[in-house]
Amino acid sequence: MLRQYELVERVLEYDPDADEALLNRAYVYTVQKHGSQKRASGDPYFSHPVEVAGLMTDLQLDQDTIITALLHDTVEDTLATIEDVEENFGPDVARLVDGVTKLSKIEAMPEDERAAENLRKFLLAMSEDIRVLLVKLADRLHNMRTLHFIKKAEKRRRIAKETMDIYAPLAERVGMYEYMREMQFLAFEQLEPDAFKMITGRLEQIHEHDGGQVDAIALAIKQALAEAGLKVEVSGREKHPFSIWKKMAERHVSFEQVTDIMAFRVITDNVADCYSAMGILHSVWQFIPGKFKDYISTPKNNGYRSIHTSLIYENSMRVEVQIRTNTMHQTNEFGLAAHWAYKQDDQPDGQVGWLRDLIEIVDASHDAEELLEHTRMAIYQDRIFAFTPKGGLFQLPKGSTPADFAFAVHTELGNQTVGAKINGRHMPLRTALNNGDVVEIIKSKKANPQLSWLGFVVTGKARAAIKRAVRLKEREEVVELGGKLFEEIAAHVPAKIGKKAIKEAAKRLKMDGPDDLMYAIGAAKIENSDVMEALVPGCTAEMEEDPNWPSQDKAISIRGLTPGVAFQLSECCHPVPGDRIVGLRKRGEGVEVHAIDCLKLANGVDADWLDLSWGKKSKGAVGRLRATLYDRPGALAEMAGIFAQNLANITTLELSQTEHPFGVYEVDLEVQDLAHLTRILSALRASDAVAQAERI
Ligand code: MN
Repeated sequence: MLRQYELVERVLEYDPDADEALLNRAYVYTVQKHGSQKRASGDPYFSHPVEVAGLMTDLQLDQDTIITALLHDTVEDTLATIEDVEENFGPDVARLVDGVTKLSKIEAMPEDERAAENLRKFLLAMSEDIRVLLVKLADRLHNMRTLHFIKKAEKRRRIAKETMDIYAPLAERVGMYEYMREMQFLAFEQLEPDAFKMITGRLEQIHEHDGGQVDAIALAIKQALAEAGLKVEVSGREKHPFSIWKKMAERHVSFEQVTDIMAFRVITDNVADCYSAMGILHSVWQFIPGKFKDYISTPKNNGYRSIHTSLIYENSMRVEVQIRTNTMHQTNEFGLAAHWAYKQDDQPDGQVGWLRDLIEIVDASHDAEELLEHTRMAIYQDRIFAFTPKGGLFQLPKGSTPADFAFAVHTELGNQTVGAKINGRHMPLRTALNNGDVVEIIKSKKANPQLSWLGFVVTGKARAAIKRAVRLKEREEVVELGGKLFEEIAAHVPAKIGKKAIKEAAKRLKMDGPDDLMYAIGAAKIENSDVMEALVPGCTAEMEEDPNWPSQDKAISIRGLTPGVAFQLSECCHPVPGDRIVGLRKRGEGVEVHAIDCLKLANGVDADWLDLSWGKKSKGAVGRLRATLYDRPGALAEMAGIFAQNLANITTLELSQTEHPFGVYEVDLEVQDLAHLTRILSALRASDAVAQAERI
């Protein structure tokens, strides 16, 4: 383990201005806080943060990052608090430690691919400062190095899989190839022990057979370039077991068929020499055209720059050669991390493009949003990531609410949602979620999605599900209403109506079943007499004499009109017998009959006014009323029951608005006269289901 003075000296070596006392304090702090905690290896726990800090010094990262590495597990695993860290080490370190702690909290993830991809994006997005991610990657690398101490095979496997699926690709994404390769090597050993043994065994055999071959080829390359006057460094190696395994798996070939097992690296002083070296190598040995890649003129997205080519060495062996400058090499191996070490240097080969931008952005802001945008990670920008209480991860568009979240988890959950807790606190369903929020949906089997939710949900899935649920609920209620009305109708036919009779009636009316029939009745899409005819064919002829049943033909006479003049009860005020009425006669048209207090009259119209009154026998007209119901199951049916008891036919029924917790309905009702309508309004007002009822 790295000793305290060794660590501090390492930092001072590349950063003479570092605060020695503060570094020492951080070292002592982590030793004290972790106290007697032990690693699986039996080492004291604090050896782990100290090693992670050591890894960060290899990358020559700044003092705050080193201190963060030292403290990275204190808040998660000891009694230390963020406030405590801030007090001792300042707000910057506290923010970094908090970032790493947050990332650590979310490691129990489901194993499927989608979740792994999500988690990678999440970790990127959550690393508000790129240094948080670097510490996290070093933390993982050290845990992988000590993975073999963990006794439970299942746990080793889980950690290895997580590393392979999440952290190695993440290291690649930020260009830290060295971390990526070591993580893959260690994870591969755990995940595919047989393949690992086979490949490392074969590589050893090759070594024993002609161990000097790698060196011999490296020397040949160096000599060929030296003869042309190029001063370069050449190193050679066998490829890593995991990359050989990947080739075998991708190409479905055996170990022997993987031809380019050896790889060589040519390091030059400047970019021009890279291209010269390439030309010379291509003239000395035959190269494989399809294998040639120029990542110097076109760097990879993560900033990787190098020339790749494959040569056929001595007419038989394929070898891979990478050509790059020393500066490129540092950047390639350590990606984002490298800029801290190199930002002071005047980069001789003109470090351009994304990395320079990135350095400026990171230096200026330490802001992940800008960073992501400028490194083409912008695709994650308009997304947020939220968790279920059990750690399930869901990716949603920015602005998503707990309602969106619920429907993303499961349509059924969305349908039953009544409320939500965000990070343990009750919050309104319309609250916009933030990255990393833990969302707990409060549900009830009796709940239904509300129409008003459409005002704030942002996902298409939630929108569609809410509309569907509201339609279904409306239909259910109309069917329920139809059922009540049907009972009334059935009571008026001269036969006892059972389930079978209803089915047959539906069939006669060419409907799919009893529910459709009830829906048609509830929605006033069918005349009562037609329903009766379908139930008992021929029965309506006798029924019309029933004095309790409002006839479909209105028997209305109006006094004050010349006999024979056509008249019409107005649609705007729906006068019913008993109302004081006036007539409006326009030239060439019939007479419109209005209630005396109709607004249309108050506004004045270009027509003759006629003083009218109802004839003695006038019975039956359509009255219009507005009823405000509590938005709860059965409320509509209760209203329908009141109409049925009072023998009033609904002609139209419309939900005019929903204002939680109310639904406002406008109803056209066939009533006998004003007294009848007034009785109905009083009955409505007396009902628990009705908040308000009035004529309109
Ligand atoms: Mn750790």
